[in-house]
Amino acid sequence: MGLLGCHVTGGIDNAPQNGHALGCEAIQVFTRGPSQWKCKPLTEERITNFRSGIKAFNIQAVMTHSIYLINLASADRTIRRKSEAAFLEEMDRCEALGIPYLVFHPGSYRNSTERRGIRRLTNSLQRLLNTRPNQRVQILIENTAGAGFLLGDSFEQIGMILDLIGFPKRVHVCFDTSHAYAAGYNLQTKEDYHEVMTEFDSTIGLKHLKGFHLNDSKTELASRKDRHENLGHGFIGEAVFEEIVNDSRFKIHPMVLETPGGEDWFRKNLQLLFRLRTQSSTK
Ligand SMILES: [Zn+2]
Ligand SMILES: [Zn+2]
Repeated sequence: MGLLGCHVTGGIDNAPQNGHALGCEAIQVFTRGPSQWKCKPLTEERITNFRSGIKAFNIQAVMTHSIYLINLASADRTIRRKSEAAFLEEMDRCEALGIPYLVFHPGSYRNSTERRGIRRLTNSLQRLLNTRPNQRVQILIENTAGAGFLLGDSFEQIGMILDLIGFPKRVHVCFDTSHAYAAGYNLQTKEDYHEVMTEFDSTIGLKHLKGFHLNDSKTELASRKDRHENLGHGFIGEAVFEEIVNDSRFKIHPMVLETPGGEDWFRKNLQLLFRLRTQSSTK
């Protein structure tokens, strides 16, 4: 039984309240503008507001999604340097705000090879983690749909990346259902879900699965296209979401929606997830 919620936009100041208004137990936030390299430092006031909001509105789990520009696997040294600076900023902001999880995309190795991209990514993360030896924030690699030169489309590769980084208590995984489906992991029936989790366990280890993005997929299995859809309106079976929200292995795990259509759709999708959770507990 995971903690249900959605990605709340509109700035961190109002995120706990907005999440609460939508019915969230868990939220995901950007702590900064997601498509800009630059950001203003957090003020003490904003930090206090966020922390007290989380308590006051009874938000039980929080994740940050890093800005989209970050590419630690890039063959371009300038991009990599900017990415490292931005990533460190993300880590520090999570630490200041008391956010335990920082989700990010492992990046693209365009103009280079997969092996070199993985090396650049893992070297970067090692360096960043070593720079902040005492931070509590855990870094979550998000699995991707794998278009073009994107890393993170297979469990084997993510498992290898975790091994190469070598910080088993600080680096884990966020599982996005629509990305997995687009990357070729079938998620239509209850049985499919359990097969995919078994494969996750044997390649990465379920102990590394710390959070979920619950999205349906607008595109077919193995399409390698990243197109989120509202639950029940895409190719992923409702049965799969029912299994996830009721999976007793994931009791304290944030499970957030990143579905299209704004707040009304977040509400509808959340209602569906809560219904699936209750239904199952009364069976
Ligand atoms: Zn993402
Ligand atoms: Zn996602």
